[in-house]
Amino acid sequence: MNIHFITRPDSKYDSKHATKITPVRGMVSCIIPAFNEHDNLAVLLPELCALLEQWCDAWEIIVIDDGSADKTPELMTHWARIDGVRYVQLSRNFGKEAAIAAGLEAADGDAVICLDADMQHPLALIPNMLMRWQAGVEMVYAVRSDRDDEPWIKRVGTRLFYHLLADTRGVEVPPNAGDFRLMDRKVVDALLALPERTRFMKGLYAWVGFRSEAMPYLPEQRRHGVSHYHFFRLLGLAMTGITAFTTWPLRLVGIAGATFAALSFMYGLYLVGDYLFDGSAPSGWTTIVTALLFFAGVNLISLGMIGEYIGRIFDEVKGRPLYVTRQKRGRSRAKRAKAQAS
Ligand code: UDP
Ligand code: MG
Repeated sequence: MNIHFITRPDSKYDSKHATKITPVRGMVSCIIPAFNEHDNLAVLLPELCALLEQWCDAWEIIVIDDGSADKTPELMTHWARIDGVRYVQLSRNFGKEAAIAAGLEAADGDAVICLDADMQHPLALIPNMLMRWQAGVEMVYAVRSDRDDEPWIKRVGTRLFYHLLADTRGVEVPPNAGDFRLMDRKVVDALLALPERTRFMKGLYAWVGFRSEAMPYLPEQRRHGVSHYHFFRLLGLAMTGITAFTTWPLRLVGIAGATFAALSFMYGLYLVGDYLFDGSAPSGWTTIVTALLFFAGVNLISLGMIGEYIGRIFDEVKGRPLYVTRQKRGRSRAKRAKAQAS
């Protein structure tokens, strides 16, 4: 196998010099969602190939191109000729969650490792993940040990988000855990069996359960390019997470409605009493206008909140596929083994 194709001289893991360690039993698939990550993939793939070659008996790498407009397709056409490397190109940008779903569906491994293409997820963690998997842990997820590298607004927003997400009916979404994780085949099959379109992966990983273990890490700097998640996209993702996994906003709207109704009723009683016993009808212009505006605002917010949930239901009932594939390159090792056997 020639895995030195486009290998950078400074690659950390060089299979020529690496000694083979007692290999991991079973096949390991690595899925990498990538959106305009040509420069990063060119660095990541040689390092990852060498690492997997060193640690695993059988492995595959699947790059899911989430509608890249850069030179990713050209790069991957070359890489897909290498044994074990596969390329799935989606027809447009469907978002990272859909790309991960495509990767999970394509993966044949007994364990699947999901990692970003931008080198922020340190490869050095992978051997530890593999060892924990061999010891019987079904899901090993990497958790950021701190967020000091992020702007304070993002840190505060993240903390608030996890706080709001806390009421997930027995499902505990671990804070600061992302998509960088190893999953046993059982976990992958459970995730694939979930029919929902709104894929809030962090929530789904927690929902399926299984024996899970956290592995702290410090994310590295993005090697090339900038993050795809700007403020509004993160806000959208947070809204998806909250509406897909909690119903407390609806309950809150109901409680607010009941509270205001009770207060209005009491105020109404007071006004009637005042009219009957005192007879001095107040001019009341300010009160009426303020109350009207306030309740109109509360009504609109409540409608918006309910609308969010109806939007989710609409997405679900349409039942569209999560993604559309344009092309697949590279052959699955499991399928090839089956073909050879028959
Ligand atoms: N990504 C993707 N589709 C998108 C956005 C991002 O497949 O629409 C991929 C991206 O190429 C990278 C990973 O998801 O491999 C994480 O994205 P990014 O680094 O932009 O996010 P951050 O690390 O800032 O959370
Ligand atoms: Mg990143």
